[in-house]
Amino acid sequence: MNLYLEKFNNENEANHEFFNELRAYAEVNNVPIIKRDSLVLIQSLLNIINAKTMLEIGTAIGYSALSFVCSKEDLVIDTIERNEEMYNEALNNIKKLNKENSINIIFQDALEVDNTILKKYDVIFIDAAKAQYQKFFDKYAPLLNENGIILTDNIIFHGCVEEQEHLSKNVRSMVKKIDNYNHYLSTLENYTTYYIDSGDGLAITMRKK
Ligand code: SAH
Ligand code: MG
Repeated sequence: MNLYLEKFNNENEANHEFFNELRAYAEVNNVPIIKRDSLVLIQSLLNIINAKTMLEIGTAIGYSALSFVCSKEDLVIDTIERNEEMYNEALNNIKKLNKENSINIIFQDALEVDNTILKKYDVIFIDAAKAQYQKFFDKYAPLLNENGIILTDNIIFHGCVEEQEHLSKNVRSMVKKIDNYNHYLSTLENYTTYYIDSGDGLAITMRKK
């Protein structure tokens, strides 16, 4: 994010030192946490729509979930993570900030979670395995509140979606899936999607009225 603007966001960030440590940890350990500009955009959206409940798919170390509840104290998040190491790290971090009452981690594969144990959400944040984005969307969109929004991170995959020729087979197949997902969102009759060039790309999807 623009360094000049980042300074202002740093000054405003609650628990800034703690979040700086998480960002450093993520960098060293290659944990793909959300980019700062998308984070700030989502924090502002949460406050604009007065979100009270969120479902996050892909907790990792709890960085995004903790950042969200710190920017909106009455927000409660259910977040799903299948990797045990990540799950434990997230638990630790949540404890450090005393946010056990705001963030509930479900340690399971998001495609295997029993939907009926979940509630309705003002925001659904899709930020897990990219190859499964469409499956996550189809499974969890029914849990969205009437005026809720679905956010999808990493929809440009570092610019690779536009330039597919010079990539390895694996990356190309991943990129193709994201591209398919973006097209899928745009064809949905009951939803409108806005594609935002922020961080690694962010889709904002809402029901048509
Ligand atoms: N939201 C986090 C980053 C998540 S990284 C942040 O911005 O701070 C993506 C995470 O999704 C990884 O930890 C990975 O283990 C998890 N994940 C991937 N596929 C998943 C699935 N099907 N179910 C649950 N978790 C999944
Ligand atoms: Mg992401």
